[in-house]
Amino acid sequence: MFQIKNLTVEADHKKILNDFNLDLQEGAIHALMGPNGTGKSTLCRVILHDPEYNVAKGEILYHDHDLTKMTTTAIAGEKIFMLCQSPIAIEGVTNAELLRTALSEKSGQPINIFQFNQKMEAICDKLDLPREFIHREINVGMSGGERKKSELLHLWMLEPEFIMLDEIDSGLDVDALKVVAQSINEYYAQFHPTILIITHHNKLLELIKPEYVHIMMEGKIVASGDASLATKIENEGFKAFNISGLGNNE
Ligand code: ADP
Ligand code: MG
Repeated sequence: MFQIKNLTVEADHKKILNDFNLDLQEGAIHALMGPNGTGKSTLCRVILHDPEYNVAKGEILYHDHDLTKMTTTAIAGEKIFMLCQSPIAIEGVTNAELLRTALSEKSGQPINIFQFNQKMEAICDKLDLPREFIHREINVGMSGGERKKSELLHLWMLEPEFIMLDEIDSGLDVDALKVVAQSINEYYAQFHPTILIITHHNKLLELIKPEYVHIMMEGKIVASGDASLATKIENEGFKAFNISGLGNNE
């Protein structure tokens, strides 16, 4: 369903992903772990076809489409969604404006404002976000935790089928982490999307339990297995996966 084959990616004349291969099972939760600077965020950006990155070789197949040949808008239309490590602020555009536009574009019809508002309010309540966030400019003046919750509001409204969570736990306090994890678990139980969770911390994987764990080092997957791989990393660090030819990243 989601297959990355022999993907080599460069930015600024530097090779970041190097003959990268990964298969994801539809409707499963996958975790991707790896040291800083190994190319995890790059992978997410390339999946969304960020023009900063040059795909030198390989393909990203999603339901038989090659995403490397599609525009970011078309990829979003395939219901692929990313929650960034550091969500950016967009001045002058409110959450409601963005979501209204995206939803009416998707359905090709004007949306029902009453239902739209009702749904937004219910999601804010569940996320422990003030309802006034609906009409706030996207992430402007928001704390790290508020930004992550605000992106989750987008997720619930847009109902994606493939979700990348890039270090969603960074910058969250314990309470916010619980709310966020619970919200994702609830979304998963309701819609069964495919999820790729990127994290350094086993704590998050205790809250959102992955079926598969993949370890990435120096631009490649070096091991795939079940959740016990995450425990191994917690106990031994990434050096447990050092294979010949790779450095000593931890
Ligand atoms: P991770 O998310 O695993 O910590 P990144 O994907 O952010 O790693 O980065 C992997 C490597 O690629 C790092 O060395 C980073 O500096 C480099 N890199 C990422 N994006 C760019 C870019 N747009 N231009 C140049 N180098 C980049
Ligand atoms: Mg990263």
